[in-house]
Amino acid sequence: MSSLFLRTLRDDPADAEVPSHKLLVRAGYVRRAAPGVYSWLPLGLKVLRAVENVVREEMNRIGGQEILLPALLPRDPYETSGRWTEYGDSLFRIQDRKGADMLLGPTHEEIFANLVKSEYSSYKDLPVILYQVQTKYRDEERPRAGILRGREFVMKDSYSFDLSDDGLKEAYAAHREAYQRIFERLRVSYVIVSATSGAMGGSASEEFLAEAEVGEDTYVRCVESGYAANVEAVITPAPEPIPLDGLPEAVVHDTENTPTIDSLVEWANGALDREVTAADTLKNVMVKVREPGGEWELLGVGIPGDREVDFKRLEASLEPTEVALLDEADFAANPFLVKGYIGPKALLANGIRFLVDPRVVSGTAWITGADVSGKHYVDLVADRDFTADGTIEAAEVRDGDPSPDGQGKLVSAKGIEIGHIFQLGRKYTDAFEIDVLGENGKPVRLTQGSYGVGVSRLIAVLAEQWHDDKGLRWPKEVSPFGVHLVIANKDEAAVAGAEQLAADLDAAGVEVLIDDRKASPGVKFKDSELIGVPTIVVVGRGFADGTVEIRDRFSGETATVPVDGAVEAVLTSVRA
Ligand code: ATP
Ligand code: MG
Repeated sequence: MSSLFLRTLRDDPADAEVPSHKLLVRAGYVRRAAPGVYSWLPLGLKVLRAVENVVREEMNRIGGQEILLPALLPRDPYETSGRWTEYGDSLFRIQDRKGADMLLGPTHEEIFANLVKSEYSSYKDLPVILYQVQTKYRDEERPRAGILRGREFVMKDSYSFDLSDDGLKEAYAAHREAYQRIFERLRVSYVIVSATSGAMGGSASEEFLAEAEVGEDTYVRCVESGYAANVEAVITPAPEPIPLDGLPEAVVHDTENTPTIDSLVEWANGALDREVTAADTLKNVMVKVREPGGEWELLGVGIPGDREVDFKRLEASLEPTEVALLDEADFAANPFLVKGYIGPKALLANGIRFLVDPRVVSGTAWITGADVSGKHYVDLVADRDFTADGTIEAAEVRDGDPSPDGQGKLVSAKGIEIGHIFQLGRKYTDAFEIDVLGENGKPVRLTQGSYGVGVSRLIAVLAEQWHDDKGLRWPKEVSPFGVHLVIANKDEAAVAGAEQLAADLDAAGVEVLIDDRKASPGVKFKDSELIGVPTIVVVGRGFADGTVEIRDRFSGETATVPVDGAVEAVLTSVRA
């Protein structure tokens, strides 16, 4: 440590909010170079390499072949796939000196697909799984928590190519198992949830979410059935439609000063001779949407008034279409939008697309805006008085909501996405017309899978899941060193004894970090706890009596062992 390129910090960095970010900076693993862009220092790089290794071993085990593509890419293939525009502001676009458009790769479906197209031409070549461990670039809107959400980050991305849908399913299943092994070896606590496929396109897709309070993903689980899904992927169970015959007529009521759901419910409970809750009202939320490269258009979203619109769910439902809230100018330009009293009728009459929550089934009767200030409809019936253009998953999902599988109730928790597996299908192989000659001499269009692991993010996730108030506590598989040996005795014999112990451990295949600095034992102990190597050995005062201490960073327990048997005792602890 006297020569290691390492400075530990006593104070938390000012820009750090989550524990992993604070600790990785304080313990000298990473340093910020720009927002969302980090340098890896010696300790950090060792952990990064260890994680990469586990990922590589498990990818190789399922027959993946490692290649490495450039991060600097031409525009053309992304233009063909549509992602040059679809990716929006998250794409780092650049121009070379000749003015040619290029980008820094955010993910590489296009390039892998083209590579397979150029190299392979026969069914005999398939299936194939290719992967890389590579630096990715995304100009994230909110880079966050250090390496947790970077603008430059390391991802393992792999891509499978198959002749048939069954082949794709097999490659997907193999990846799913490989990911389970990776995360088990790394000792990450995680859940697998069904996911939406976002900008990737394609069908079946699951996410691996590390359990963490600081996570940005919300997922829900049904304890009874084991169902788990990202909130964005939750499908609201629709109630049975109600026959329209005999339903009461829709009536417009004067509802002075009821621009909010609360005030409307209060009015209804006074004016109608039945009990009304917010769930009986239909709230029509206005947003504007824009296709990639297109113009803004209005969209009305009708949801039960007891719920809010969950913007992430709304965005996921509309992706790659962009969504934004209306501003005053939008309201001014569309005077039929009467704030607080917007109803389905004016929207439909003015040709505005109107999508409703799946709970708004045929025959349900709603209290909703009548498009005139101070007036609402009561008993406006879906599919009798208005017909929406379709349904949309935009309403918030709440704890206690029924599980989509009908088996119980949902509970929610926070997670961090560490892996994502997709059965992409033929989205890109169609775009690039990737065929090989089939066994019968006819061309076969290939089908593709896409699979990602957030390698650099995993280091933050591990730090998040494995720390205490003193510092980091690395699982053995990824710890930067096997043993942290603290010399806490200036005596020459003790120093020589420590060096001998380190040499013996080294010979036994254990990497040792020796704290040989001219610093007080207190400083050294604090740093050893901060750095987080799981086994700490102290050559201290006891050395004169022929003992050293072994401290377990996890249990906090200390064992005093004779110097003579110290190597064996440390090895037992390291290998436990
Ligand atoms: P997120 O929803 O967190 O933005 P994503 O769904 O956009 O992630 P994918 O395109 O599925 O990410 O990328 C595969 C993996 O790469 C993710 O599961 C995640 O672990 C990791 N990853 C994605 N974006 C980042 C980032 N900005 N910083 C670090 N890791 C990332
Ligand atoms: Mg993802």
